[in-house]
Amino acid sequence: MTDRYCVFGNPIRHSQSPRIHTAFAQQTGQDLRYEAILAPLDDFAGAVRAFIAAGGKGANVTVPFKQAAWRLATRLTPRAALAGAVNTLSFCNGEILGDNTDGAGLVRDLIDHLGVFLAGSRILMLGAGGAARGVCGPLLEQRPRALTIANRTVANAKALAERFAAQGAITGCGYDELDGHSFDLVIDATSASLNALMPPLPIGLFAAGSLAYAMMYGLAQTPFRAFAEQQGAARYADGLGMLVSQAAESFFVWRGVRPDCRPVMTQLLAAQ
Ligand code: NDP
Repeated sequence: MTDRYCVFGNPIRHSQSPRIHTAFAQQTGQDLRYEAILAPLDDFAGAVRAFIAAGGKGANVTVPFKQAAWRLATRLTPRAALAGAVNTLSFCNGEILGDNTDGAGLVRDLIDHLGVFLAGSRILMLGAGGAARGVCGPLLEQRPRALTIANRTVANAKALAERFAAQGAITGCGYDELDGHSFDLVIDATSASLNALMPPLPIGLFAAGSLAYAMMYGLAQTPFRAFAEQQGAARYADGLGMLVSQAAESFFVWRGVRPDCRPVMTQLLAAQ
């Protein structure tokens, strides 16, 4: 019988996940169906239970339900427990297993697709919201020299750094404290670009050969990209590779098969 998977979100119409997972299934010969489900804002748990009752095997979870999914899970993987957010659910023998593949997806995109060497590097992450929280652990596993979290609400950056302090060299600060520092990798994990805005960054952040990486995808030009290019970042990438790579990690969690991301990234780029 064809196995059923889905992504829960609200809104969900924009989601690329059905397209990505359908392409993965075709590529790997897996018999599955993947759909997008609009979960009610006040009853995420009900939507999940209905999907399980209908035979669902697993689900992705997107905005705004990642923390609700973390609370709903009956078991958590260590990376999901630490992240405090879940983007991948597996339903098996009455259990709801929660995982978080966002960070693994980002790290795979950086290493496998962009050829970034993270060990010993200086990483700056702008933003301390859900996306930033999901990727700190996997980034620190790569043993960077330092991971600096800078955020508009400084207390959120400091809280994030405290949460991951045992995992490696991580600090939290405000944007003004970045003055005089430079980095090999600058990740924009804010949602500022959604409103054509950018955090107030000092000049000189981009070290020679550095990569500017925006988690947001689908916009050809953003203030962050323009700033990075003007400030001499050697390269720029957006989060399309992260999106496809976190989906591939989820696919692996569910099916035990690792799809090839590149043809699917090419497909999505062509459709943009
Ligand atoms: P959250 O709402 O959880 O966090 C938003 C962050 O952006 C906070 O740190 C917030 O700061 C900051 N911020 C918002 N507006 C501004 C502004 N005008 N100036 C400075 N900082 C601002 O969002 P998420 O963490 O879930 O998502 C962040 C981005 O990452 C989104 O663009 C999302 O699309 C993208 N994303 C991409 C993924 C991918 O697979 N490629 C996966 C997940 C997310 P403060 O704390 O002060 O409010």
